[in-house]
Amino acid sequence: MTKHPTLAAAYAAFVCDLDGVVYRGPAPVDHAAEALTAAGGPIQYATNNASRPPEDVAEHLRELGIDAGPDDVATSSQAGAAALRESLGTGASVLAVGGPGVALALAEAGLHVLHPGEYRDVAGVLQGYGLDVTVAMLGEAAYAVQRGARWVATNPDLTLPTDRGIAPGNGSLVAAVRTACGRGPDEVVGKPFAALYILCAHRLKQEPKDILAIGDRLDTDIEGAVAAGMDSLLVLTGVSTAEQAAAADPHSRATYLAPDLRSLHEDLPRPSRDGEDWVCGDDRGRIVGGAWAGSAEGTLAQGLTNRLHAAYEAQDAGRIDGAGAARIVAGLLADD
Ligand SMILES: [Mg+2]
Repeated sequence: MTKHPTLAAAYAAFVCDLDGVVYRGPAPVDHAAEALTAAGGPIQYATNNASRPPEDVAEHLRELGIDAGPDDVATSSQAGAAALRESLGTGASVLAVGGPGVALALAEAGLHVLHPGEYRDVAGVLQGYGLDVTVAMLGEAAYAVQRGARWVATNPDLTLPTDRGIAPGNGSLVAAVRTACGRGPDEVVGKPFAALYILCAHRLKQEPKDILAIGDRLDTDIEGAVAAGMDSLLVLTGVSTAEQAAAADPHSRATYLAPDLRSLHEDLPRPSRDGEDWVCGDDRGRIVGGAWAGSAEGTLAQGLTNRLHAAYEAQDAGRIDGAGAARIVAGLLADD
């Protein structure tokens, strides 16, 4: 039997989302820690959550059995601080609006973090989520922006799911400042924008094309990967479904689709065309009359990934719509 290379072996490094991929709240996602530990390349754990310092995230990962330190965690606060240093220069005075992770990232990037009472000559504002953000702080941010300060937001997430319900997320607090200023941020760095992933690529010392981005959400993780020029793996352990993946617009299309992270260690090649058929490992087939016609020899991940690419192509050619694409992958999950 031919020994195939694994999905993990096809990439030099990885960028991995956390919630819905590695853990769900405090609980681990099955198989994630073992699969990531065995991945073989360096991993950056990239989170839109701006409030937690990297060491807190790394400690959570170690509790789950993943050998990670603060340097293995990239936050949207760090991406925001890097963006402000790039445009304003080292030592510029910046207002930190958000949790402790925001001020820490600014200080570590060599920027001067302004404290209450010194809010004059504000060159920049970094706005991220924080439980202790007050209306007074949002007012200071708005005043600074109106006086010409450069405004960077860590992430645009409007809502934040918690164990008690849905809370307003950073995007909602950004909207409050936007309403006061009559304009939006100069830059947003978190997923689905590219800056956080590009920061990870710099740290990994790899080109984006040689990095696999792993996530559970099409509208953040996968869209960000496309924006950054990275291939991506959508795992079905979090928010987005296989049906949504198949129906996705080109700007949020995953390269691979798998039930969970064990697929990193499977033979899961990028699907290719062989005549009219699509082929992914042992899976082979095509869309005929809106339905899948093919073998069922492959693994579930091979079947899902193969149908995904066939569905993308058929949608682009106008042969099926999003609902039809969803049915193509739903058929496989129903059979399984
Ligand atoms: Mg997630």
